[in-house]
Amino acid sequence: MSRTPIAIAPRRPAEIPGEHGMKGITPRETLTGSAVAVGDAFIQSLERVCASVDVDDNSRTDYARDWWPLGMVWATTGHVARMPAAVARPKNVEEVAAVLRLANDAGIPVTAAGGRSGVLGNSLPVFGGVVLDLTQLSGITDLRTDDLSVDVMAGTFGDAFEDELQKTGHTAGHWPQSMKLATVGGWIACSGAGQMSTRYGTMADITRGVTAVLADGRVIETSQFAHSATGPDMTQLFVGSEGTLGVIVSACLNIHKKATYTESGAWAFDSFDAGVDAIKRFSQRGARPAVVRLYDATESRRNFDTKDQHILLVHDEGDPEIVAGIMSVVRSECDGKPSDKTLVERWLSNRNSVHALDELIMDRAPDTMEITAPWSQLPRIYHDATAAMMAVDGTRTATAHISHAYPGSAGLYFMFGGRPELEDRPRWYRDVWNAGARSVLGNGGNLSHHHGIGLQRGRLMGEALGSGMEMLQLVKDGLDPKGILNPGKLGLKNPFGPTPEWADKAAPKA
Ligand SMILES: Cc1cc2nc3c(=O)[nH]c(=O)nc-3n(C[C@H](O)[C@H](O)[C@H](O)COP(=O)(O)OP(=O)(O)OC[C@H]3O[C@@H](n4cnc5c(N)ncnc54)[C@H](O)[C@@H]3O)c2cc1C
Repeated sequence: MSRTPIAIAPRRPAEIPGEHGMKGITPRETLTGSAVAVGDAFIQSLERVCASVDVDDNSRTDYARDWWPLGMVWATTGHVARMPAAVARPKNVEEVAAVLRLANDAGIPVTAAGGRSGVLGNSLPVFGGVVLDLTQLSGITDLRTDDLSVDVMAGTFGDAFEDELQKTGHTAGHWPQSMKLATVGGWIACSGAGQMSTRYGTMADITRGVTAVLADGRVIETSQFAHSATGPDMTQLFVGSEGTLGVIVSACLNIHKKATYTESGAWAFDSFDAGVDAIKRFSQRGARPAVVRLYDATESRRNFDTKDQHILLVHDEGDPEIVAGIMSVVRSECDGKPSDKTLVERWLSNRNSVHALDELIMDRAPDTMEITAPWSQLPRIYHDATAAMMAVDGTRTATAHISHAYPGSAGLYFMFGGRPELEDRPRWYRDVWNAGARSVLGNGGNLSHHHGIGLQRGRLMGEALGSGMEMLQLVKDGLDPKGILNPGKLGLKNPFGPTPEWADKAAPKA
């Protein structure tokens, strides 16, 4: 059965912490190098092909920022990474294609933006140019309940999309903490993972196909079959591409029937490694419950007021017989003491909260680093990377939890913070990231599990991908030969100059 279409009103991205302090000022830029020159004639041509184009300081300042913690620090002194010359808000695919054609002919950078909830500077236009805000492309265009698939526009916000699916008795199963902040296009472009991805899969599994506009304005569609042997899978090229290979305008996603049954459990382990081993055992027996989270002792104390315990939360939803079977396997492998089941409810009710980040950013400089670790290396990666981050001058805390589990590996999510002086924070953010990421890479982990690369991790891409970097560059050169799409990201070469960096010392108040 097909239900088509379902309107979802477009909305603007949510306010980013620190935004109020930026209104009415002309911010200064912190990055090295400079923006590509954009003349009045180009802006006038842009206005002819796209109905909504903003060039005022407030709009440009907004789109010079995302949820990257260092950007929030810069905002306190009236600084941004780099200002775009214009913000274009296309209302349909034709306008997206026209903007890209124009920019490609003129050699002007174009950076796609959804909800701007990236936490690594992913959507920051580091060479200026045009930010292409996709949030006007909103709504479900087709829902095929027999085939369990949905076509959705790229700028649709996650919460609104899921609300509409739930009304029809379905779910996409993608539940990032940033559900209200992020768009479907951003989910795909960052290869995101929701909190229930152990059951429903990450965006790499959920995305069946995309419609994307290439740098020269060509509109392409990738295969939308659940599985296909007609050559390499082109859809996966766009998953995790962070706006560097094309602009996603819509996607075909897998959906599921809404769950009718849930079961949960909590366990306490005497050591993090013992908890890791239990998850490995049940995952390798084929149990994939929706939520699997193991907190180290510090995070357990912070979240659940426990003492010297490593808390594991497991929650599953779906068909009663399947869930019961999975939870029975989980229980039999969890030899730690069963803990209070209401801890799961506590976590479920707080899981999308982002409040208080404003004060926390200034007070404790919190940040997060998520990576994938093979089971064989996970304990070593956890111990060495937290130690490496703690050894950086200014760090006060480095902890971690397992956030996603697979048969061969797990997603490990580090949380760290410190109290470096405000002017010393740019140095501290770079050093702590270098220390943590290099420790993980050196022990056989990867660079990112689900937040992507952005500006913060670009310099580490060569170390992470090795010879794969050359292949990525070849793909980039083929799809975007003039290098206009989100230049300065993913460690790729670009024609506009060296990838911008930031100074160790924060600039004084502008
Ligand atoms: C509090 C908080 C919690 C978070 N929790 C999670 C989580 O649980 N799981 C998770 O995966 N992530 C999480 N994130 C990170 C972030 O929300 C995701 O990366 C999200 O997918 C980004 O979507 P967006 O629409 O905000 O994209 P943006 O931030 O606007 O853009 C991100 C990148 O995608 C590109 N892009 C955006 N739209 C398109 C498009 N249509 N076509 C091509 N490229 C595009 C941009 O150029 C940029 O490189 C969290 C962020 C915050 C602030």
